[in-house]
Amino acid sequence: MTREEVAAGLTEVVRRAVGAVIDPELRRPLAELDMVRGVSVDGATAHVEIALTIVGCPAAARIESEVRAAAASVPGVSVVELAVGVMSPDERRALTEKLRGGRPARQMPFGPGSLTRVIAVTSGKGGVGKSTVTANLAVALAERGLAVGLVDADVHGFSIPALLGLVDADGLPPSPTRIDDLMLPPVAHGVKTISIGMFLRRSTDGPLGAVAWRGPMLHRTIQQFLTDVYFGDLDVLLLDMPPGTGDVAISVGQLLPQADVLVVTTPQSAASDVAVRSGLVARQTGQRVIGVVENMAAMTLPDGTTLDLFGAGGGAQVAADLSQDGDEVRVLASIPLSTALRADGDDGAPVVLAHPHDPAAVAIAALAAELAAQPRGLAGKSLPFAPR
Ligand code: ADP
Repeated sequence: MTREEVAAGLTEVVRRAVGAVIDPELRRPLAELDMVRGVSVDGATAHVEIALTIVGCPAAARIESEVRAAAASVPGVSVVELAVGVMSPDERRALTEKLRGGRPARQMPFGPGSLTRVIAVTSGKGGVGKSTVTANLAVALAERGLAVGLVDADVHGFSIPALLGLVDADGLPPSPTRIDDLMLPPVAHGVKTISIGMFLRRSTDGPLGAVAWRGPMLHRTIQQFLTDVYFGDLDVLLLDMPPGTGDVAISVGQLLPQADVLVVTTPQSAASDVAVRSGLVARQTGQRVIGVVENMAAMTLPDGTTLDLFGAGGGAQVAADLSQDGDEVRVLASIPLSTALRADGDDGAPVVLAHPHDPAAVAIAALAAELAAQPRGLAGKSLPFAPR
């Protein structure tokens, strides 16, 4: 072989090694993202040029070090010269078009006909543990190998970022990276997550600033979460809904009429009445109530006695009230009161990962298993639930 042939062969191997590096935010290989601009090999030196999507790309350092390592891992290469550039506006446009999968901008990928199962988690009132259950359910589904997205639509009480540990040293959620008008959702424990809390400006609104938005603005925000966030191909999209039957519930009902709805309630009968109402409103928009989750159920104390702080029977009551001819609604899970679940939520470490043997974690994992096994919709079409 001539020197040129050796160099050409090496160049190809380096190109493949570098092209296989995964962009940590877009979760796809650099070659597929057209981020490898040029590769050449000269003796034992590999010259590699890559193009980042945007200036100041937060993943830049990681991409650079992984590209260096990939090139250096090729036998025959001992020096890597790396040049890092930034995509031109045209290159970026081509990339966002590719990421949208040929879908025009502003078109919602989760409408009827989508292969993603959408589950909206709702409750009658606040404080029943809806967000805690949703965050843990998302993580438990991701643990099962599913591609999971989570939209924190609880615009007034967004707590999802903190529950998933998506906060910086100041306790504030990260701002999503933008590639033009496409937003990349931060990923926590395998769950692609977007929340209104990621968009509030720290100085003006404050980290937990009240969002006093009216219906049209909320509608646009939810719509933007569904259209402009790059979730990629998802098996499941969970929505953490605001409690009750307000503007957001109606917007989501209009945007996602094929969504399944999970109603969270405590065992207390006073809580169950309002929970029934939120289920009925969802059904009016065409959504299907797939089940009830009873949270804060009786816990077993170390001495073997049980503590039922919120009484019993609320979940079964809501399920009975939401059942109608030919469409039986069941209690899919009863999650006990749990100190671990509460404390892990405060720490941003979901209990299903931090204490998987805790009774609350076991109940949530069983709920995830049940949902993953359910046939989809009334047509009985099976779910695209297959391990990735
Ligand atoms: P919601 O989203 O319904 O307003 P949250 O998920 O924010 O409710 O939960 C309210 C509070 O209750 C949180 O402090 C949470 O840690 C706690 N909590 C939720 N579920 C349980 C449970 N099963 N056991 C103990 N504490 C719980």
